[in-house]
Amino acid sequence: MTATPRIVVLGAGYTGVAAAKLLAKRTDASVTVVNNRDRFVERMRNHQVATGHEPRHTTLRELFARTGVRLVVDQVTRVDPWQRQVDLARDAEPIGYDLLVYALGSHADLGGVPGATAHAYAVAVAEEAARLRDKMRTAGAVAVVGAGPTGLETATALAETYPDRTVRLVTGGALGETLSDRGRDHLHRAPGPPGHPGAGARQGRQGRRRRPAPRRRRPDRR
Ligand SMILES: Cc1cc2nc3c(=O)[nH]c(=O)nc-3n(C[C@H](O)[C@H](O)[C@H](O)COP(=O)(O)OP(=O)(O)OC[C@H]3O[C@@H](n4cnc5c(N)ncnc54)[C@H](O)[C@@H]3O)c2cc1C
Repeated sequence: MTATPRIVVLGAGYTGVAAAKLLAKRTDASVTVVNNRDRFVERMRNHQVATGHEPRHTTLRELFARTGVRLVVDQVTRVDPWQRQVDLARDAEPIGYDLLVYALGSHADLGGVPGATAHAYAVAVAEEAARLRDKMRTAGAVAVVGAGPTGLETATALAETYPDRTVRLVTGGALGETLSDRGRDHLHRAPGPPGHPGAGARQGRQGRRRRPAPRRRRPDRR
């Protein structure tokens, strides 16, 4: 270890931002955050991007102002745990660390289902959600696969934003199984046609249904 411990946080989503701020506040270490853009992307708002709503832009510089956290905007290409350093795409000089926080997030598993990589739109990354938004200009029907919180939010937001389209929610498990009893009751009380007789799949034309998600404005009325 060097005299002042060096903490490097990779990724500045919810996890990286919170970790970096707390570490800067509660330790004597120097804290450096590496993220591939100077923008705080709230992944849980990506379904709103997909329905044409542009979330508020907050720069990471703003978030880290007066916190003592140093921000490096670059793509992490490699972590070398033996040398304790991180390689970057643009900067030839690697960043050394004593302690590494790995918070680069997750991605949608498109490779697990044949055809998904070529034909599906994910909402895990803002750019992918924006592709779905563009596709919705011409799509007549959309199937949202997966009925966890992301699938539920995306399906309800799409149905509410595009009431003239058919939105189907497809899940292999029980609808709302990760929700509380109250949340599940609410979901099942929402009126709509009966479930699809497929293997655990549920299908509904949700355009005119009352849904648990909060009301959102149509993008063309912004
Ligand atoms: C549509 C949707 C709805 C959701 N709804 C909810 C909800 O209601 N409640 C809830 O608790 N959770 C929800 N989630 C999940 C929640 O958003 C995530 O769990 C959370 O955002 C994960 O944060 P993270 O910091 O771990 O990762 P991320 O937010 O993915 O952050 C990773 C960061 O690393 C950066 N990065 C990635 N690779 C590199 C690289 N090689 N080099 C440099 N930087 C890189 C990215 O740009 C990003 O800034 C939702 C997610 C989605 C997609």
